[in-house]
Amino acid sequence: MTTERNSCIRCGECCVQSTPSLQREDIPLVLEGHIRKKDLFTVRRGETLWDNVREEVRPAPDEIIKVRDRDGRCIFYDDTQKACRIYEHRPAQCAALECWDSSKFMAVYAGPKASREDFIQDRVLLGLIREHDKRCAYERLASLVQEIKPRGEAAIEQIVEILKFDYHLRPFVCEKMAIHPDETDFLFGRSLIDTISPFGLQVIRQPDGSFFLTTLEKSASKG
Ligand code: SF4
Ligand code: SF4
Repeated sequence: MTTERNSCIRCGECCVQSTPSLQREDIPLVLEGHIRKKDLFTVRRGETLWDNVREEVRPAPDEIIKVRDRDGRCIFYDDTQKACRIYEHRPAQCAALECWDSSKFMAVYAGPKASREDFIQDRVLLGLIREHDKRCAYERLASLVQEIKPRGEAAIEQIVEILKFDYHLRPFVCEKMAIHPDETDFLFGRSLIDTISPFGLQVIRQPDGSFFLTTLEKSASKG
């Protein structure tokens, strides 16, 4: 975003076009409760994302913690007041953003990013997150998708197992650890059912609770 301005007129354009990711200096904002875990979601390594800075679609090179959006607009943007609802406690990327000059933003953006481990002390929960990351890694999914052609049903079954693990772990953790369901996109990233389309696959939920894995062109398997 670049314009002819040389100061902020608080038009809100930057808040309705994207949301910030959290840098390490933003960790206190979450620990002090100004931003809640359910206001965030995790982009796990390898997840396909639109990179605002490079202006391209690419796999995330590392884990990113992002503020949620609603139809692309930051959830903290108040349309009526045309203002940020957490202005005094907004993330560092927001504070550095000057749409007429990207240098301050890029200096912040180049710094170290926050990760889930900065916000979670519970060792059991951290263990589950690591296990989920291992079993449901996007790199693993990408390699299994490549194996569909040579290995057929065996590779598809492994993909279905990954999807099922990702799907069932979320309510299990909420129930056993008294975690609000809205926090699961932060804890485990967005559901693989919702993020699998860049791999050329889609999942259709069946009325009996099972899900049907298909390629975007034709049927693949039921799980
Ligand atoms: S920094 Fe954001 S709010 Fe300020 S003028 Fe630029 S687009 Fe508008
Ligand atoms: S946190 Fe506030 S300043 Fe940052 S994008 Fe959201 S509404 Fe805008």
